[in-house]
Formats: sequence, structure tokens, C-alpha cells
Amino acid sequence: MTSVALLRCRGYELPALKETMLRGLDDIGFSVSSFRGARVVLKPNLLSAARPQSAVVTHPQFFRAAAEIVIEHGGRPVLAESPAVASLGNALKAAGYAPVLKDLGIPVADLSETGKLSYPGGRRMKSFEIARAFFDADMIVNLPKFKTHGLTYITAAVKNLFGAVPGMRKSQMHLKFPEKDDFSGFLLDLYGAFLNGFDPPRTMVHLMDAIVAMEGDGPGSAGRPRTMNAVITGLDALAVDWVGVQVSGLDISRCATLAEGFQRGFGILSGEEVRVVGERIADMRVRDFRAPQRAGATRLLRVPLIRRIMKDLFTDRPVPAAGRCTLCYQCMEICPAQAIGRAEEGEEIPRFDYGACIRCLCCLEVCPKAAISLEKGRLQWMMR
Ligand code: SF4
Ligand code: SF4
Repeated sequence: MTSVALLRCRGYELPALKETMLRGLDDIGFSVSSFRGARVVLKPNLLSAARPQSAVVTHPQFFRAAAEIVIEHGGRPVLAESPAVASLGNALKAAGYAPVLKDLGIPVADLSETGKLSYPGGRRMKSFEIARAFFDADMIVNLPKFKTHGLTYITAAVKNLFGAVPGMRKSQMHLKFPEKDDFSGFLLDLYGAFLNGFDPPRTMVHLMDAIVAMEGDGPGSAGRPRTMNAVITGLDALAVDWVGVQVSGLDISRCATLAEGFQRGFGILSGEEVRVVGERIADMRVRDFRAPQRAGATRLLRVPLIRRIMKDLFTDRPVPAAGRCTLCYQCMEICPAQAIGRAEEGEEIPRFDYGACIRCLCCLEVCPKAAISLEKGRLQWMMR
């Protein structure tokens, strides 16, 4: 059994946020006195250089509240995050983190320094190259944003740890695990490594920003901000994610990190082992929360000979829209399959090679103009 605090918080005003976080930590039995003298990595979600109102990133006030709590209780916070494609400097500026870091004197970890985290129990991967800052820390405070995700259905506490993998190495993981189930399994291996790979083990606490979450075609700018008014706190990332999904009313069976995660024996084995403290899920539930249009590619993509035909017939493909696209080429930079090329003279959108495309949707995730949408596979279109 593990406790998760589900608390109502109607906005990002600092005093109320701090009070809510402190109550949540207390509710789950976490003593803030353990911050004393500790080096504490704060890991927000800074997917891209996006404004806080877009709900793409953990809100800067949410980060500030957590950082102030750590400092006020004698801890030494450091921010560690690696955006998908933007430079961390640009992401910090756009997301409103720069003044927070300056006011509180919080250093930013150098993510070019990495270390190997091993987890022999991994099913898809057993060794991970992650930012050195996580090895240097005594504690990790994970600050995810609750969002929908085109590949993994949701991104929350478990998936937020993927940001510990520096820069473009994340794209390589998408290329290695292009399918939803495999990629979700890889994320669980990484989570297992965070739980079991450090010597000594690091205390990890998860404070999830679900005050304004993201629905629809998240996790990037194509998603839509959606008010949930919730701060969800726990020591078990799976339990925190489970509560987030319950509050959103999304379909838990489509969330592969939860379905497989419960079988891995990391802690709890089902949602029934989550003790929700604070508000009742039923009282916080959001009506008509929009799921992503599509989550995960069909397993038929495993068959090499028919892969290309199957992709065309069954899977949605990312299509950029002239008029919205500014030819910034962030999609090209992130694409792990090198399926995106520069526009020819006179063209208004980049060239997409759908034969090479593995449908990971990283391009859709990072496009700052929400210029990429999903077009139905041919057979899906005909059936419709
Ligand atoms: S589709 Fe989006 S990310 Fe790609 S070039 Fe156009 S604006 Fe940039
Ligand atoms: S084109 Fe987009 S969806 Fe296709 S592989 Fe590249 S980043 Fe992934």
C-alpha cells in the first residue's frame, strides 16, 4: 500500500501552492526535515521553449514553490532537465524559469556530464546514460506536468524521468523503441534504474503539476491546456500517475506504463494498493478530458517486409501545414529516423519521408507552432 495526496489547488499563487505542497508531503509521510543539508535535484518538465500558459511545461511558480520549500528546510536545490530539442537556456527563458533561478540562486546542472546507471532487471535496457547531476544528488524531487502523449498516451511522473537522458540521446531511444509498448517498457526500465541503480539509493518524491494539465494531442503545443486544479504527491511514481489518470477520466487500459508497471514489482501491483489522501477522486474528476487522437503504433510494424505498407494503411502520419509552419526545422533536428528534410525553394513546409518515418511523433511534440497534425492511414480513412 502507498499513499498519494490528491489536493485541490485553484491556481499558481505562491502561498497557496506552498501550503498545498507541504500538506501533500506531510500526508504521504515525507518529512521536509530530510532536506536539511541535502543536495536536491529538481526535475521539472521543460519539453521545449514554451510559455507557461501553454501547459507544455511545469509551471514556473510550481517549480518556485518546490524550490523554496527545499531551501527553507535547509536543502541545496539544483535544476536538472534536458529539453527535447531547444537549448535549456531558451527553454528556461521562455518558460519563465530564469527569474526564479536568479532570485533563489539555484544552479543549473551541466547535462553534458553523464554517468552510467545500471539496472540488471531491465527488460528492454539494462544500462542508461543519464546526467551526472542525478548521481551527485542525495535526493530527487520529480516535478512532472500531467499531459496527454501521442505515443505513450500520458506523460506524468514515470515519463518525466526520461528528461534525465541528455539531449538527442532521447531521439535514439525513440528509434530503438518505436512502438508504444516497447517504448513504455523502456521508460519502466529507466524508472527501475532510478529505484535500484543508485548506491546508496536516492530518495525520490513526486510532486505533479495537474493544476492546469494538458489534454488532446499533447505533449507539445498541439495539445490544449485543461484545468484540473490538482496537486498530486507521492513516493511511488506509478501510484501518482494512476491517480492522475483517474482524475482525468482517461482510459487506464491504454496507459502502457501503468499496465506493465504494475506487473514489474516496483512497489504496488495495482491501483487498489493506492491510498488516496485528501480529496476523493470522484470529487476531483474532470469531465470530457480529451484523449490524444492516437497513442502508439500498431505491433504489425514489427514485420519488416510489410512494415511500409502497414504504416501507410493503418497508422496516422504527421503532416505539416503550410501557413502555420515557419520552417524553423526543430522537427528535423529531433527526428530520430532522419525522415525530415529541408523544403525545396518555394516550398513552405519541410519534406517528410513517410517510408523512413517510424511514427514516434517527436516532430509533433516539439513543433513550436502546432503546425503538425495527424492524418489518418489510408485504410482508416477509407473505413471512415
Ligand atoms: S513543422 Fe513545425 S517544427 Fe517543423 S519546420 Fe515547421 S514550424 Fe518548425
Ligand atoms: S517524421 Fe516525425 S514521427 Fe516520423 S520519425 Fe521523424 S519525428 Fe518521428
